[in-house]
Amino acid sequence: MSLLIKNGMIATASETFDGDIYIEGETIAAIGKNLAATHSGAGKAAKVIDAKGCYVFPGGIDAHTHMNLPFMGTNSSDDFETGTIAGLHGGTTTIIDFAFQAHGGTLDAAYNRWQEMAQGKAAGDYAFHMAVTDFNPKVAAEIKTMTDKHGITSFKIFMAYKGALMVDDRQIVDLMAEVKKHNGLVIAHCENGDMVDQMIADNRAKGNKHPKYHVLSRPPITEAEATGRLMDIAHAGQYPLYIVHMTCDEALDRVREGTRRQQKVYVETCIQYLVLDESLYFQDGFEGSKWVMSPPLRKKEDQEALWAGMNQNLVHTVATDHCPFCMDQKKMGIDDFSKIPNGMPGIEHRMELLFSEGVLKNKISMQKFVDVTSTAPARIFGLAPRKGTIAIGADADLVILDPKVQHTVSAKTHHMNCDYSAFEGWKLTGKIKTTVLRGTIAVDGGKALVGKGFGKYLPRKQSGALL
Ligand SMILES: [Zn+2]
Repeated sequence: MSLLIKNGMIATASETFDGDIYIEGETIAAIGKNLAATHSGAGKAAKVIDAKGCYVFPGGIDAHTHMNLPFMGTNSSDDFETGTIAGLHGGTTTIIDFAFQAHGGTLDAAYNRWQEMAQGKAAGDYAFHMAVTDFNPKVAAEIKTMTDKHGITSFKIFMAYKGALMVDDRQIVDLMAEVKKHNGLVIAHCENGDMVDQMIADNRAKGNKHPKYHVLSRPPITEAEATGRLMDIAHAGQYPLYIVHMTCDEALDRVREGTRRQQKVYVETCIQYLVLDESLYFQDGFEGSKWVMSPPLRKKEDQEALWAGMNQNLVHTVATDHCPFCMDQKKMGIDDFSKIPNGMPGIEHRMELLFSEGVLKNKISMQKFVDVTSTAPARIFGLAPRKGTIAIGADADLVILDPKVQHTVSAKTHHMNCDYSAFEGWKLTGKIKTTVLRGTIAVDGGKALVGKGFGKYLPRKQSGALL
């Protein structure tokens, strides 16, 4: 099967140019002007899509999702099928989800369990990070297996959620040393779990139940402290580092400091931290629970710092931390803010939000947009050159976006398995018309044309040098 996308404004992380893209099978065969529909000479005419007036850019890579995650006594409401289909609607063709080691369990068991949930289910391509929650010498021996056998080259640690996911500093040091032997990357959730737990306990003791106490128990300093501490640990051992979901200027300052000593640190933020702020928690009733996630939303000044951080090359990727819970699930915390399942839906609107709020409002360039949504995550996580760019031989993962179409985000029309939208009523300019995954039209005109099981598992290589 061949496909010809004609007359598009082709955007990569380095330039935008007018042209055509010819796809043969799953990969890009030619890029040029006035390409013929029978480019291959095989005589069989390709299906032609006219992309006049539209941007054509690489399929999005969301490097931070949680499908079907068992967490806080329930499971995130999107599974690998519904979550990746929603992703395809929003131009995300690849996700990197997290397999979680069980306490006392092996990494291998976690890998197998997550493959059972994803294989034959995912409609979009997927890879895994490994969340290491219980590091010990036995687990150390598994890092090599994960890397060599399963293509998992990034290992996540939590500095919060004590008693569930959190590891201590000694475990962090030991894990970093082991991961470095295999040229992998440690990625981290930076919040000081002990500080947070003390503030939660204090608020509960005072009878404070409202969702706003979630953000009041997790101030920026808890994130900045953990970020700074981890930066120092990584610097001391010369370990590269990737920090997930950074939210605030105070934490970013610790990164800024680290870059003065030539430290290799990658920073991810998520779309919600760029466009939403903490005032949402202070609404009446239980409304604020919709945005209960960790770290929480911050102030408007923090959004500005993150946008600027992208342009300063301090913030490298924009993900979602997609981890939806329906309102029934959120209500587990109706009488106790600390029992509200942490997470929100986001995968479907990451790219359209970033385009509308970022590119069209001149906060970032089109090239930066492509970089943070696709090219940089592909390189950092060892998916390049197969993913993350438009090049001959690369997977034909492409998004066609009409920059003039306006639309409104709503739970009534989204495809995520969640009964609310975190961006309800947002009016966006620029709509995705078509998403192509490995040469197959996956979504067209709002309709999914692929389904369950179309997605492939992507074993990853070691991180490419970006810094
Ligand atoms: Zn997460």
